[in-house]
This record gives sequence, structure tokens and C-alpha cells, in this order.
Amino acid sequence: MRKSIVLFLTLALADTAAAARDPHSYAEPDRFLVRHVALDLAADFAAHRLEGAAELTVERIDSEATELHLDTRDLEIRSVQMIQASGQARILPFTLDAPDPVLGSRLTIGFTSCCAVSDALRLRIEYRTSAEATALQWLEPAQTSGPHPYMYSQGQAIHARSWIPIQDSPAVRLTYTARIRTPPELTAVMSAARVEDADLAPGEYRFEMHQPIPAYLIAIAVGDLKFRSLGERVGVWTEPSRLAAAANEFADLPRMLEAGERMVGPYRWDRYDLLIMPHSFAFGGMENPRLSFISPSVVAGDRSLVAVIVHELAHSWSGNLVTSATWNDFWLNEGFTTYLERRLFETLYGERRARMEDAIGYEFLVQAIEDAKAAGLPQDSSLLLNLAGRDPDEGTSDVAYEKGRWFLGYLEARFGRPAFDAFLREYFDSHAFQSMDTAGFRSYLLTQLVRPGAPAIPVAEIDEWLYGTGMPATTPPIPGGVFDAVDRAAAEWRAGRLAVGDLPVHDWVPQEWMRFLEGQPADLSDARLVELRSHFRLGADGNAEIARSWLALVVRTAFEPAYADLERYLLSTGRHKLVVGLYRDLARTEAGLELGRKIYARARPGYHATIRAAVERLLGPDAIRTS
Ligand SMILES: [Zn+2]
Repeated sequence: MRKSIVLFLTLALADTAAAARDPHSYAEPDRFLVRHVALDLAADFAAHRLEGAAELTVERIDSEATELHLDTRDLEIRSVQMIQASGQARILPFTLDAPDPVLGSRLTIGFTSCCAVSDALRLRIEYRTSAEATALQWLEPAQTSGPHPYMYSQGQAIHARSWIPIQDSPAVRLTYTARIRTPPELTAVMSAARVEDADLAPGEYRFEMHQPIPAYLIAIAVGDLKFRSLGERVGVWTEPSRLAAAANEFADLPRMLEAGERMVGPYRWDRYDLLIMPHSFAFGGMENPRLSFISPSVVAGDRSLVAVIVHELAHSWSGNLVTSATWNDFWLNEGFTTYLERRLFETLYGERRARMEDAIGYEFLVQAIEDAKAAGLPQDSSLLLNLAGRDPDEGTSDVAYEKGRWFLGYLEARFGRPAFDAFLREYFDSHAFQSMDTAGFRSYLLTQLVRPGAPAIPVAEIDEWLYGTGMPATTPPIPGGVFDAVDRAAAEWRAGRLAVGDLPVHDWVPQEWMRFLEGQPADLSDARLVELRSHFRLGADGNAEIARSWLALVVRTAFEPAYADLERYLLSTGRHKLVVGLYRDLARTEAGLELGRKIYARARPGYHATIRAAVERLLGPDAIRTS
């Protein structure tokens, strides 16, 4: 996933003896393993529910085991049946525990002496989801770019359990099939291959995912969706009115995929398509296999914000092919992906652009480490986390992404790029379709990279990266100076030595625009703001990241003439990175708070539940006053 905002829970747990077991799942994969799930679900847009059945193929690992534990959240379980070899169904007893606020409800299914060890048990669970399912967002037509409603899932981190009764741990991999029924005018897509079949009724779709994946990567979207091919293996899905712009924006996709394969080995998921989401999608992107879900804010019109796509594509190796075994090991997903993203960016768009991304990412990292310290949770700046008892969505931060990136940068610097690249490729090859934890990676590293003939390296140095807080003494030099020219031009303009028309903007990339706007002080005069606004036509439209930086300056300077643009922007995007910071800035002053609440009352229906929660924390108890 691509995110940039850090949230911390104040709840700290002193569970230092974190077991090897996933602290965010009730699953006991050493007793029973769910190998496959066949979903058969109908989408009820009026009730905001999915309803139907999940048929689980379960392997008994431990001959003594008599109870299967599954993860659920807010599911209404109707019945559990065992499907016998004869095809007959036998009702099984089950219990659903009271919900834990983080983990949801444990579903326990009891077996008597039913079967031999390793027998593949078939269990059919009939159920429906809650209208409040944390994985599912149901959008009204007004929240889409056409006349139809829309629904999509977001499984990461522990939301899959709110729409499928499953072993919802990244350490458990399974294959899946699905039959999905939708209103006939809508199209369903999933993180799986579509099965084309002439016998399918209107509004009926079938999917198959043959490669084993963790439950959080099972994903669905239903809406008025159209497809355009961008090459033999790649293409883009989106609402009809967005299709032409999206196809144009991501024309580089075949080249990106080839660059990925050259660096880390074959792409093993057959197809790589993008699904460009409605504007309320809360993330930059989500790496659902075969079909990344992407924020429409990335469609800038000039292909300038494609770092998100490179990031999600890189997850095809780090995260989807080799998966962090628990959310405590999340850096194995995101640190590797951020490292690969920067390397691929360098190959595709040049060294300078890659170093800009690094410089911006490093600022986020420094902030995340300070935030962790300020929250009294300095241990959250370690690569290996201890998130037991906490919601992993709120305990993970830019540390996993950017400190992870620099740990791999440190290894690259120590062993040299050719040796490190060979190591990476071997790592993905030898662990394909497996899960990995920090201890496992450490021992693989110590045997495969730190070996005779390679530079000697103290193990303590590695351990400081993995288990220490803050940034280690061995951090490689962070690229500086990439924004010096912009900073100088900004200072000259403010000092009146450079006319606005002489600012060297003709070759600025969005990252330089953002730097220029974000570097302006809160006491910049209205005359200067008017000058910028009219000369560069700054407003709510165009490149969403540049618009955000401009509107942040509008808030910082209380520049009222642009408030209508601010409101239009906050009503037209729901991406966390783009909106939450603006509300945070608004909340810093009395007048800003009032304006923020006024805008939020109108914007709220278009925001994802996680955004609502974040904004309401910032705007306080009056946030949802609607008058
Ligand atoms: Zn990611």
C-alpha cells in the first residue's frame, strides 16, 4: 500500500514475549490450514451487504485438533456444514465469540472424529456481511463519476475477516474462486483471473486465483467498469468517463513491468491491470494481485505521479510473492517495495527524479520517528514492530517504508549493487509464494549475503537496523541538495529580486512545485498570493499533489479568496494523503476550525470510514454538526 500519513494509538502493550504466532489472528495454522476458499456471493446495493456462502477447503495438520478457529468481524453466520465425500452436507456446531475491538470475533467450528490427518475437509459457511463491514465501501451514484453505485473492498491489514470468514493472517496462503452476482448493469472485478463462460447470466461473474495468496489480498470491486488494453499483459479498468485519461496516463505500464522483471525476476501473476477508483478511495494505491487499486488523483494528465504505480507494481514481488508473516514484519513488504520503487524509478525516469522521491520520503521518515517519540512509543521506529493488542492500520508508519528502504540501501552500499541485486533476485526466487518474518530474513541474509569472500560485516550492525529505534549510525548518506535550485529561486522571488514570470518553472516536475509552495511562509502577503495564483492558475484542479500544496499554503496564510477552491478540492478527493493534512492545518486556528467543520459536513459522505475517523479526531466533537 502507498500511504504517507502516520497515525498512532496511545495504547501500548507490554507483551515483550511476542510469540511466533500472528497476534492479529485467531487462526492456528499449526492445527488446521485453510488451503482454498470458493466464494459465492451476491452484492445487495440497497442493504450494503454481501450475502451467500464461503466453501473452505481445510487441511488438518494436527491429528489431535478438534476445533477450527477462524477470524470474522461483524459477520452474520447462518450455518456451518461439512460437505462429505458423497456430496451430502452435515450441520456442524459453531460458536461466535463476543467481538474483540481489534481482532473481531473468533468463529469456532467443532469436529468430532471425522477424518484422518491431512484429509481435505470441505466446510460450507453461509453468512452475510454487515452494512458496517470495515473492508467494504458502498458508494452512492453521487460519489462516482457516473449514474451507478459502486462497491469495493480493502483487505489490508485485518479487514478481509469482515467480508469472508477466514484465517486472516498474512502467514496463511490460499487459492480462491468466486461466483459474484451483481445488478446486471454493473461489472465485477477481482484480484483473480476472470472466467469467461457463455453460460453466465447477466450480472454473474466468475473468478479464479490459482496462486496462493494471503486473505488480505482477496479483493473485489463492483461498478460501471470498462477495460482498455495497454499491452499484451497489461490494461486499465475504470468508470467509462475516466477511461481515456487513465489509458493515456499509464501508457508506460508495459515498460514498467519489463523493468521489474529485469531487476527481480519473472512476473508470476500472468496479468497486471490497474483499477482506477472513484475519488473517495482513501489510498494512493493498493497492491491487490493482478489488479492494483489506484487513486484517481494519480491521473495528473502529464504522467508525473506514476511513482504510485511503480510502487504497487513492485509489490508483485515484495508483499504479494514473498509476504511478511505478521504485521509486525510489515517492513518486509513495504521497505523492500519502497527500495524497488526507487530503483525502478531510477531506471525508468532517471537518477534525479529517484533522488527527489528519496529526499521527500526521508523527510516523512524523520517526522515519523519524531512522532513515535512524541507519542511515547519510540519502539515504533524499529523495523520489527510489536503491534500486539493494537490495530495494525494505526501502528504502522513511514518507518516500515522508508527506514526499510534505507536498510536495503545500506546493504547495497556495503556489498555493492551487483552482489546485492543477485541476492534480491535469489531471495524472491527461493521464497516465492511463501511468507517471511524478520528472524527468517535475518538468517537468510547472514548465510546468503554475508558469506566468505564478501565484505565482513558485524552482525550487531544488522541488528541495530532490525531491532534498534531511530536511524542507525550506519545510515548511508541521504541525497541532499536536489531541491536547492528551487529553494534559491523561491528566496529570490520573495526578496523581490526575481519576477514571478522569471521563476524557472518550465522544467519543474510536480515534486519541485510542491517544494516551492510548501516552502512559502505563513506571512506571505496577499499581493504575493494573488500573483502566484493568477500567474500559475493555481486552484483545485489539475495535478492533485500540486493543488494540495497550494491549498495548504492558502490555509497557512488564511487567504480567503481561494477558500472556494479549498472547499471544491476537499469535496472532490478522498485520498488520505491529500485531505487529512489540510484538515489538520485548518484545525490549528479558530477560524480555520470553523471553516473545516463547515466543509467537512458536506464532504463527509464521500470519505472512507478511516478518513472520517481521522478528520473527526482533528476537528473535535462538533465535526459532524451538519448545519
Ligand atoms: Zn506499499
